[in-house]
Amino acid sequence: MAQEIDALVVGAGFGGLYLLHRFRALGLSAVAIETGSDVGGTWYWNRYPGARCDVESVEYSFSFDEDLQQEWHWSERYAAQPEILAYARHVADRFDLRRDIRFDTRVLGADWDDAAHRWSVRTDAGDWTARFVVMATGTLTAVNRPDFPGLGEFTGATYHTARWPEAGVDFTGQRVAVIGTGSSAIQAIPIIAEQAAELFVFQRTPTYSVPARNGPLDPAEEAAVKADYAGLRMRDRQMPGGFGSRFGWNDASAVTATPEERDAEYERRWQIGGFAYLGAFSDTIIDPVANEHASEFVRRKIRETVHDPATAELLCPTQPIACKRMCLDTGYYETFNRPTVHLVDVSAAPIERMTAAGLIAGGVEHAVDAIVFATGFDAMTGAVMAVDLRGRSGVSIHDAWAAGPVNYLGLMVPGFPNLFVLTGPGSPSVLTNMIVSIEEHVDWITDAIARLRDGGLETIEATPEAADAWVEYVNLVASLTLYPSCNSWYLGANVPGKPRVFMPLPGLPAYVDKCNEVARNGYEGFSLA
Ligand code: NAP
Repeated sequence: MAQEIDALVVGAGFGGLYLLHRFRALGLSAVAIETGSDVGGTWYWNRYPGARCDVESVEYSFSFDEDLQQEWHWSERYAAQPEILAYARHVADRFDLRRDIRFDTRVLGADWDDAAHRWSVRTDAGDWTARFVVMATGTLTAVNRPDFPGLGEFTGATYHTARWPEAGVDFTGQRVAVIGTGSSAIQAIPIIAEQAAELFVFQRTPTYSVPARNGPLDPAEEAAVKADYAGLRMRDRQMPGGFGSRFGWNDASAVTATPEERDAEYERRWQIGGFAYLGAFSDTIIDPVANEHASEFVRRKIRETVHDPATAELLCPTQPIACKRMCLDTGYYETFNRPTVHLVDVSAAPIERMTAAGLIAGGVEHAVDAIVFATGFDAMTGAVMAVDLRGRSGVSIHDAWAAGPVNYLGLMVPGFPNLFVLTGPGSPSVLTNMIVSIEEHVDWITDAIARLRDGGLETIEATPEAADAWVEYVNLVASLTLYPSCNSWYLGANVPGKPRVFMPLPGLPAYVDKCNEVARNGYEGFSLA
């Protein structure tokens, strides 16, 4: 017998937690179903060595409760995974959310019942019916593990950064291969290199990385933030990515600046560390010439840092900076000065296969004791499509999204009434401070449900016309930037066979204004019944 509730939330990461809190306050009966054994979502799964956030701790945290943000103390400028997980647990306990979370349970599918106006939700531990379903499944959840030939033949240990053993791994004395040089690899490599006897880094595309300049959180800075936390949150929400207002966005153009002005500004921000670098000039992500200036400055830093000129050259990216997500590191480039660390270029001669002893690339076998897959995710759509969602007339999400994700405001898919996607494709999502985007979406969804209830209505659904126009708009905005100009996971290019569509929408403030305007205008673009 299915259990009846008002709202079912898929996932108990930061999105799921805040949804439960808001739904409860609205008087809804709500339950979150979580595959993991605890809360935390991405911070529950990504336990690889060196895992930490690349948005500063005082900004990567909830703003919805003044007492919460005043009482929590972050120990570092950029919190490491265990501390962020502890924060998620604290939020769950503080707001007594655990009683409505079912852990170790996977949502298998959900079918829309048009007569009852409810979703029938199947899990591997029983069934539910709910008026509303929210996919709070996270954007970087479904693991991408390339299906190399011979994978089963390797006799050593294999790991994926996003499914790291809870007990940790000691690589002391081992020969280790790391596949990938994205954000996860760039954080893990310096730490694995300290332990391993030999480390082989298999690089297909070099990534731009800027020093994080992490360290203990300065008490004076923490006090200043807390003295005006609401002000900081408000200013951050005016930034394109919902964070970084303290370092600001320089309105000047890199193209018209003199070489001296450019270098001074890049250097100043390089010393600050982190994403401040991308705010050096206003045209970095829209003008190829401006972008090349910012890119070349990083290449110069790489050449200054890495002693072996051939290795330095291999580490220098050629794609526009920020086209793939920029990385933050602590000692990444310096790691390649260790005699035990070897960079293996697999751009032209890809990894061919695994063997019992290791892996073959470019015709050379590299014998190792362990292989670390730092190969990323089937981003943004992977976790949503892993659930067998069937909307009106049994239409599958796989059919609805066969040519790429279609939705309105990134929030609702036509033909799937009362089903919301949190921070999904078509919204700023991964281009932003995720917690800000989560709060914006949860507040919008909660208000929409309240509006239905107050009006004695039962369903809300995006119209196909509004969704088609929205997809066109997202593509148009992206095409005005350099984001779609390389093979990134933003485009789905990292997963063989995935439709190539630029998924996130650049520009948080304009997006939030649009969502609020839609709500004010009686949810135009949605049909309410
Ligand atoms: P990723 O950025 O997608 O990096 C995956 C890496 O694996 C890339 O270097 C990719 O090369 C390589 N790769 C994939 N398939 C391969 C193959 N068949 N052969 C050789 N190399 C292959 O994944 P990620 O590092 O896990 O990061 C994903 C996102 O998660 C980040 O962009 C960021 O948004 C988020 N993240 C954030 C943090 C943080 O907050 N600090 C930390 C980790 C992750 P190509 O580039 O050539 O495809």
